[in-house]
Amino acid sequence: MTPERVIYILPEQVASQIAAGEVVERPASALKELVENAIDAGARTIEVELARGGGDLIAVRDDGCGMGPQDAILALRRHATSKIRDAADLNAIRTLGFRGEALAAIASVSRLQMRTRRSADAEGMEIAASGGEDPATRSCGIAAGTSIEVRDLFFNTPARLKFLKTPTTEQTAAAEMLQRLALSNYRIAFRLTADGRRLFDVPRAASALERFRQLFGAKTAERMLPFDVTSGAVRVWGLAASSQDSYGTPRLVLTFVNGRAVRDRALIRAVVQAYQTLLPRGRYPATALFVEMPPTEVDVNVHPMKSEVRFRNSGAVFATVHHAIRSRLADQTIETIPVAAEVTDVAAAAVSTPVAAAAALPDEGLARPAETAPYRPLRLVADNTSSRAHQAPLGLSFTRGAATNILSRPHDESSAAGAGIPHYSELKVVGQIFTGFIALESEDGLILVDQHAAHERVTFEKLRAELRAGSIKIQPMLTPATIELNPARAAQAIAALPELRAMGFEVEQFGATSIRLTGAPAVFGIEGGARLLGEMIDAMGDNGFNLRGAGAFDDCLKTLACHGSVRAGRTLRGPEITELLAALDRTEFKTNCPHGRPTHIEFRRGTIERMFRR
Ligand code: ADP
Ligand code: MG
Repeated sequence: MTPERVIYILPEQVASQIAAGEVVERPASALKELVENAIDAGARTIEVELARGGGDLIAVRDDGCGMGPQDAILALRRHATSKIRDAADLNAIRTLGFRGEALAAIASVSRLQMRTRRSADAEGMEIAASGGEDPATRSCGIAAGTSIEVRDLFFNTPARLKFLKTPTTEQTAAAEMLQRLALSNYRIAFRLTADGRRLFDVPRAASALERFRQLFGAKTAERMLPFDVTSGAVRVWGLAASSQDSYGTPRLVLTFVNGRAVRDRALIRAVVQAYQTLLPRGRYPATALFVEMPPTEVDVNVHPMKSEVRFRNSGAVFATVHHAIRSRLADQTIETIPVAAEVTDVAAAAVSTPVAAAAALPDEGLARPAETAPYRPLRLVADNTSSRAHQAPLGLSFTRGAATNILSRPHDESSAAGAGIPHYSELKVVGQIFTGFIALESEDGLILVDQHAAHERVTFEKLRAELRAGSIKIQPMLTPATIELNPARAAQAIAALPELRAMGFEVEQFGATSIRLTGAPAVFGIEGGARLLGEMIDAMGDNGFNLRGAGAFDDCLKTLACHGSVRAGRTLRGPEITELLAALDRTEFKTNCPHGRPTHIEFRRGTIERMFRR
């Protein structure tokens, strides 16, 4: 017999658990909701405590406005909020919360205890709820503000519980979440303790830069470039890492919209594109990017965790972000050479006159916001001002960008590839240019060697040979170096110590948030060891260094080689140049760095002569 009715309205508790799946994915997301509530409540100090990555306990204490007894009970109900009243309010949200879902969601998948008191009330109120059951209440004594303890997250939703990563990984995610919240809310003091260890304790700050310094250390902060650009109703400001610093992950591109920490793909893309051609492929910058605009210009109600937003005019936002960062970076990278005529391609230069080519091909400037080509075209700048009659240049100059661009092209480009493989150390050294390239004169051309790419290849091959032979040569350090870790990532770095040891770093834990280095792979020397290790840890992915598989190890070696190699921007002395070229000649695959970029390019004598109309 067919039953009359098959559709039923789910009990509130079940509905809440289903909804909770969207809001509370892991301890970090529960923590985010609790801390955002504290921020909305006007707290001046927020204290967070985690146990076992937050799975056992997430405690958040604030000194904000607190709640009266009736509100405290209502707060745990679904769709209960003090922040909006009707649909119209959704158009201009000024608080971090507004959905009235978080506390109900968290309470339905944990054992939650809340204690709260408004400063005007004599007594506080304590509420305990387990898995969304009807809460028990009693009065209590408590300092003005709110204290929420969330225990045994997902104890009643085994499917969710299964998806949690290790406590270390969850702790890292939660701590990073708190760092992001602390960065945009720099006027609030934050304290974080995990399993009884104090990870950070930052007092109220006067600026985002000061907060950045508190969270990430003075050394990192002083390398950041501040920027601040307003275009129409959009203000874009913050801190951008110089192009000398790069990371193996885009995780350090931190983006905030109207004070809200969001992971907006378009914003991240705008930032990454602003660094285009300035960082090696697969490397990412670090930024703290704050975008501010009238709340009517951005829809924050598009994601249950409020971690994404939608801009009314995303094109304008993208362009402003790109321009703000790109022009700030231009300061440190562009130099101007008087331009009389420009040729946009080496190949074109070889077959046509520079002047004609310049007319046909417009200059691609740095300031253009939405660059789509992967590399800026090579530019040859011909200074023919004093020989207009013959239209033949008296001098040819190459802009630094041209050299950089052509060096970062894939090696099979005709303009970049030389004929045979040169024996570098036998060629005449003309000198070092742009403190990044070594100029060599060969029989039939001018060769530019990219010092970083060359050194990278040498280092990579040396490391790989040592590894194949069964051991990486380790140089012990007379005085051990102590490396301060980003407190949010400390536990993860410490868990990865065995992997670091396998790579030749003699490291040991040293306190809760630092490690000690007593020996490093000999190829890097003692000096570079500590700096290198710090960078490697910064670039570490979610699953440590992931050494499983030979290919993965090669990736690691590439990173090691890249970080341990002389950077562009360092003056090389004569003997250093000789040594580098000799080492390069002894190396297999010497024409490319391990990432595939060419180590040298050649300008053929014939091409140069034709450009002078010879
Ligand atoms: P929302 O933040 O979207 O309003 P929540 O479920 O996170 O929804 O919180 C519900 C309500 O509980 C909030 O609107 C606020 O009035 C109150 N509340 C929650 N946390 C706090 C706190 N730490 N201090 C004061 N009031 C709070
Ligand atoms: Mg909330």
